Order: sequence, then C-alpha cells, then structure tokens
Amino acid sequence: MDMKTDGKKYFSKITVMVFSILLIFVIAVFPAKFTLMGQNFEKLRHDMVEEQLKKRDIKSEAVLEAMRTVPRHLFVPKNMQGEAYNDSPLPIGLEQTISQPYVVAFMTERLEPVPGMKILEIGTGSGYQAAILAQLGCDVYTIELLEELAKSAEKVLTDLKFDNVKVRHGNGYLGWPEAAPFDAIIVTAAPEKIPERLIEQLKEGGKMIVPVGPVRSVQSLKLLTKKDNRIIEEDLLPVVFVPMVNK
Ligand code: SAH
Repeated sequence: MDMKTDGKKYFSKITVMVFSILLIFVIAVFPAKFTLMGQNFEKLRHDMVEEQLKKRDIKSEAVLEAMRTVPRHLFVPKNMQGEAYNDSPLPIGLEQTISQPYVVAFMTERLEPVPGMKILEIGTGSGYQAAILAQLGCDVYTIELLEELAKSAEKVLTDLKFDNVKVRHGNGYLGWPEAAPFDAIIVTAAPEKIPERLIEQLKEGGKMIVPVGPVRSVQSLKLLTKKDNRIIEEDLLPVVFVPMVNK
C-alpha cells in the first residue's frame, strides 16, 4: 500500500519535471526561431540578405548585418508573418505598407549611418525602418500621422528593447523642432514637393533621402545634401511610396 503511494508520488514528480522542461523549451526556444507552421525565420532572413540585398548592390556590411538581425516578421500583421521576408512591400493595415527589404536597405545605406548619429524619420509605419537604424546604433526620432500605427510601432520597438527610438504621433511636415538639427532625415512617405521645414531641420553637411512626386504614381527617390546652406539634389531610383498626407 505504502509502496504503491510512493510509486505514484515518484511517478507524478517525474511527470511534472518532464512537463516543466518541455514547457521551458516551448517558451524559451521555440518562438525565437520558428512559428507554429515550422518556419525558420532566421534562415528566411539570412536568405533575404543573400538573394535580395547582396546579389543587388547593397555593400555595407553593417547594413547587411542589421537586416540579418532585426526580426522583420514581428513588424507585420500576424497573418502575414510567413511573407515577411519576401522581395516585396506588405500591407500593415490602414492602407499603409512596410517597404520592400531592398528599399529599406538601399535607403539606409545611402544615409551612411554611424553609431550615435541623430536621425529623423517621417512615416513610422510598422517601425521596421526605425528598428534598422536603431540596430545600427543611431538615435532615431520617428513621426507617424496615424495614432494606431504610432502606438503599435512603439510597442514592438519597446518589446524588442530598442530604447534609442522615440516615436511621436503627429504631422511629419512640421518635423521635430525641439530635437533639431538632425544629422540625417529619412522620409518614407511621398510628398509632392520637398518639405521646407525638414530642410531647415537638417544639419550643415547632413543628408536627406525622400521620395518626391505625385500621389499614387511613380516618384523619384532623391538624395539631398545640405552644403553651405544650399541643397545638392541627386535622383537615385524610381519608387512608389504611399503619399505623405498634409493635414
Ligand atoms: N517606414 C515604415 C513604412 C512607412 S509607410 C516602415 O518601416 O514600416 C508610410 C507611413 O507614413 C504611413 O504609416 C503613413 O501613415 C505615414 N504618413 C503619411 N503622411 C504622414 C505625415 N504627414 N506625417 C507622418 N507620417 C505620415
């Protein structure tokens, strides 16, 4: 009788231990690398860098490493996570999009980011572009017009411990005067004309990358450099971005 009880107790202790170990594995290891569908996000991210970035013209090892590190799938809606590493933009709700990985890498590389650089982003969207710049060690100030997106981006960035990003809900045309001047400015929505206030908030020698052109049409991605209070303008790529809304 006693032996049976002891045996049962012993058995249940082992069961509890086995379940605890399994639970720890599931919580700690499983979600970091896989989804329930068995996707290996680390591998997808690695392949994205090899196929979409290196085989094109992205050369900066620091930018490639940041793209290899930041978990892009956590910046897209849950039902789209499987497509997060595709060679395309994706919808993030409210008619907005997260840019194609190549465009993010291209724009980042052109800004020549170095640790400690102060960068203003207009159009936070999912927060992914801000995360890439933060991963590179920059101090990022990012403005988003739509409150819901500003909030969700801030949450993902906080959860991922990007404490060098400040998110503001507001109109990007006004810039962020209290934090100006910036070493660089990246605009990820398309204005019809270069916003003057943003030029004013750019440091001497600073660079600004911005898609300029008509609403819902092909725009020109421009690189502007502020030199002796003049603007040197270079056209880089034809692109299609969502409009930068002025209201
Ligand atoms: N950089 C983002 C993608 C941006 S999509 C990412 O990595 O996910 C463009 C974003 O610009 C949209 O979220 C849109 O709401 C925002 N936007 C449009 N006009 C704006 C304005 N005037 N000020 C700030 N954000 C604006």
